[in-house]
Amino acid sequence: MAKINDNLLGVLPDDDILSQCIHCGMCLAVCPTYELTKLERSSPRGRIKLIKSVAEGVMPLSNIFADEMIFCLDCQACETACPAGVKYGVMVEAARAEIDNSSYNPFFARLIKKIILKYFVAIPQNLKIASRLLYYYQQSFLPLFLKKLVNLKILSGKLAELDSLSPKVSKKFSDSVINEITEPVGEKKIDTAFLYGCLMNVMFADINKDTVDLLSKNGCKVFTPKDQVCCGSLHAHNGDPETAKKLAKKNLRAFGKHNYEYLVSNSAGCGAFMKEYKHIFKDDEELKDIAESFSDRVKDLSEFFSDIIPLKLTNKNEKVTYHDACHLVHSQKVFSQPRKIINSILGIGYTELNEATWCCGSAGIYNVTRFDDSMKILDRKIKNIKETGADKVITSNPGCIAQLEYGLRKNNLHVKVEHLASFLNGLF
Ligand code: SF4
Ligand code: SF4
Repeated sequence: MAKINDNLLGVLPDDDILSQCIHCGMCLAVCPTYELTKLERSSPRGRIKLIKSVAEGVMPLSNIFADEMIFCLDCQACETACPAGVKYGVMVEAARAEIDNSSYNPFFARLIKKIILKYFVAIPQNLKIASRLLYYYQQSFLPLFLKKLVNLKILSGKLAELDSLSPKVSKKFSDSVINEITEPVGEKKIDTAFLYGCLMNVMFADINKDTVDLLSKNGCKVFTPKDQVCCGSLHAHNGDPETAKKLAKKNLRAFGKHNYEYLVSNSAGCGAFMKEYKHIFKDDEELKDIAESFSDRVKDLSEFFSDIIPLKLTNKNEKVTYHDACHLVHSQKVFSQPRKIINSILGIGYTELNEATWCCGSAGIYNVTRFDDSMKILDRKIKNIKETGADKVITSNPGCIAQLEYGLRKNNLHVKVEHLASFLNGLF
């Protein structure tokens, strides 16, 4: 008999919800991994049963258990579909933390989580040094040389695919092109704050700059603290809640130095996790009020420009569609706002994307740790994009942008992918 696991017992739903869950199964139809295998254990309900069995000591931690938890995208589409309100994300993240502390963590995933996430993504200086080196690599002849070695079958083809999937490092990082205080253009309407993130800081500096420019052009003063760090979402979703909490504390301190009404997020994953800070610190006497006030002021860009400062948009003749980032639509429940903004543009040709809320397979580091599964999920998304006939896909998360660009390029489709912030900033 295996041992009872108190950490997992603590995240299980009540017994009456669990008994409903056995007979329900409404989440199966929206689960990309169940769709791939048609195996119950690869479905949300199947994984809940596995977590319950390990929690109650009926089943030990095992390779099958670890594999199913890592196979899950943590896209949270099952949470949106669940009529009983089961908080599946909390369960899978707790299960991943247990796997992380065991010998069932696959080597490649362990390398990424223990070294890259902990010592690079979590430490801005290290991330910037590593990114600068990657920038020089990307600008050199080495990527072409790598392709040659792959063509000659000296190196595995997957290595070249992963290389081509990686977003390009920005020439200048966001923290060097965005001032700590950006004044509004014209009369000030509101004080805002902005998190430029970790990977977004070094790989998507143009989107960050577009976001701050868009805010400024629409009457916002923007506070962007220089001592901010990664929000911690990648760590929390990948079994390292301790590092996530340390990062969250640093951000509470950095953003606490200035008064602002809203923190505007341009990254679905970061926004979702910053809205969670208040739950993370709910039992911390010193930080609970600070974290609650912080989380309550976080707004996704589309929420902000739909509900707080509505935009006055000009004409644009373009055929576009919109892909929902999982952590925006499923975690933050933001669905109508980006559509409302896009459809308010005169002349826009908008076509709703079939399965717009279905994951694109990027899912944080999933496209690196589970490359083959990620590509199968991406193929489905690309097929749906092609069917819209759109010239541009708009989305709200950097990971989705890199993944969709890769899939469209691979399929020789001339469809541009653009972040909502850059798309809107281009209209002013
Ligand atoms: S989070 Fe996504 S992949 Fe994981 S079980 Fe839920 S729907 Fe399936
Ligand atoms: S929809 Fe909710 S209650 Fe139904 S099987 Fe899925 S997790 Fe369980």
